[in-house]
Amino acid sequence: MASGSGGEWTGQRPCGRFGSGRVTDRRMGIRPSMSDQPTKVLRLILGDQLNASHSWFDQVRSNVVYLIAELMQEQTYVRHHIQKTAGFFLAMEGFAKDLAAQGHEVHYATLDETAGFESLPEFLVDVMRRGGISHFEYQRPDEYRLRKQLSDWVAQSGVIARDFSTEHFFLSDEALGDYFHSGKAYRLEHFYRKMRERFDVLMEEGGPLGGQWNFDAENRKRLPKGIEIPEPLMFCNDAEDAVNRLKRHGVETLGALDGPLGWPVNRAQALSLLTDFCLRMLPFFGPYQDAMTHRGWSLFHARVSFALNTKMLSPQEVCDAAIRAYNERPDEIGLAAVEGFVRQILGWREFIRGIYWANMPEYADRNELEAQGELPHFYWDGQTKMACMQQAIGQSLEFAYAHHIQRLMVTGNFALLLGVHPDQVDAWYLGMYIDAIEWVEMPNTRGMSQHADGGLVGSKPYISSGRYIERMSDHCRGCAYKVSARVGDSACPFNVLYWDFLDRNSARFAKNPRMRMMIKNYERIDADERVAITAAAKSLRARRHEL
Ligand code: FAD
Ligand code: SF4
Repeated sequence: MASGSGGEWTGQRPCGRFGSGRVTDRRMGIRPSMSDQPTKVLRLILGDQLNASHSWFDQVRSNVVYLIAELMQEQTYVRHHIQKTAGFFLAMEGFAKDLAAQGHEVHYATLDETAGFESLPEFLVDVMRRGGISHFEYQRPDEYRLRKQLSDWVAQSGVIARDFSTEHFFLSDEALGDYFHSGKAYRLEHFYRKMRERFDVLMEEGGPLGGQWNFDAENRKRLPKGIEIPEPLMFCNDAEDAVNRLKRHGVETLGALDGPLGWPVNRAQALSLLTDFCLRMLPFFGPYQDAMTHRGWSLFHARVSFALNTKMLSPQEVCDAAIRAYNERPDEIGLAAVEGFVRQILGWREFIRGIYWANMPEYADRNELEAQGELPHFYWDGQTKMACMQQAIGQSLEFAYAHHIQRLMVTGNFALLLGVHPDQVDAWYLGMYIDAIEWVEMPNTRGMSQHADGGLVGSKPYISSGRYIERMSDHCRGCAYKVSARVGDSACPFNVLYWDFLDRNSARFAKNPRMRMMIKNYERIDADERVAITAAAKSLRARRHEL
């Protein structure tokens, strides 16, 4: 298949000649062709391709119909949070309306129209037949599953097709190959420095601004007592129609949506969220990015991941906005804060994407630690006595959101220590979060959080006992378990499972320099207590649903 920002046409059928139309009626479907008009082209826009700056939209073309569709296959490959599905539907519908207002011909297909079609290709065939359209154009999907589905269909059906870049990421699909190769382990820090240089971000005189690449030592602080946590900016989007459609078609969702949807569903809202972040949160982002508290669910985080992953915002403009804010208010924001933020987007987000595309589809089956356990039921309802888990899962169900350290060091850490099969962990993260799209969810979950990729993303498993959670949060004070205890009925389950993990995996990680200290600490525990830890871990696993 062709690549680049606009590939060559592929397929065997001759070009037809078709009529142009304007905005189409949902029930009537797209307008059929007329023989004296130029070749009519169907351009597919997926729910995470809402990039208003894409070159497709530079001109209104009378022979192009844009198709945006709510698809049943996207509702059923995993059970999604209701706010995620509603958020996608509202954002897609709003994008369709904006395109139509600019004069483009757009067909927005709701579930009411598409529900009878089992797959995207099946629906495309129908739309193209109804409209008498022979030419098909699409932006390459970011998910392997969809990219393969479309390219297989193009190859097998012989449809005349052309694929395009999404024009979203810092690194194009082709440029990813300069940095990532299948099966090779890479480290974020090295990649991130290259990205800073390549895109000239926070650089001066050929080196990093401020003379330092990394300000981690100034970041990662615990929240000071009494620090005011800002109320997150929420929007008031009416999701009733979308929710009713889901109900009407029997789509099973998880989580809650009581009232309007608070997530941004159009570019204006996405930009407001970004501006608000730069104004109120950014000065505190760096220092407190790893902090956790029951006093707030998003603290100083940006909550721009949904807007970024649907492409309503570009990563370049998000970094630019943060750097502009820093340049305007350097004393208030500080280099550590802005660097910490840019690192997440220019660094981690692009890095994760590189790992995904270099290693799919094999990556989806990796289970290096051979974990086979079942995910505890409380991941789905938040009913647990562990205060840290209660907060992380409870807010996920309520808002479809948890911040990075909650995902990594609370829910992810616990699943890893318990030994849950990565397929189950993946399905949970992929369904739960508003921003969860496989290309970014999977390397974060299976790789960074579960170490199931054998270290392609991270050089060691992200594990900790309850002590880390105690240090970074206020959860342990109000918990039914004792963070100071290693064994016994009231011992913090993170403690028991942490030491048990080291016991089970000490041979595997014996040569890993970053694990040496942990393993040494375990070996210092006397033999009787080690036996008690193993027994306690076995008992916890047997009671996994009741913890
Ligand atoms: P902030 O903390 O404000 O960071 C700003 C932005 O940086 C984010 O919006 C995001 O675009 C980017 N970013 C930060 N960390 C990462 C990272 N590790 N990988 C990629 N981008 C990053 N992120 C997703 O976008 N989708 C997912 O499905 C997803 N699943 C995750 C699963 C696990 C187990 C873990 C540990 C992390 C996951 N992340 C995922 C990464 C990160 O947790 C979220 O991007 C972040 O919490 C989103 O909230 P925010 O916008 O407030 O982020
Ligand atoms: Fe979590 Fe353990 Fe602290 Fe309870 S004691 S909040 S389970 S870390």
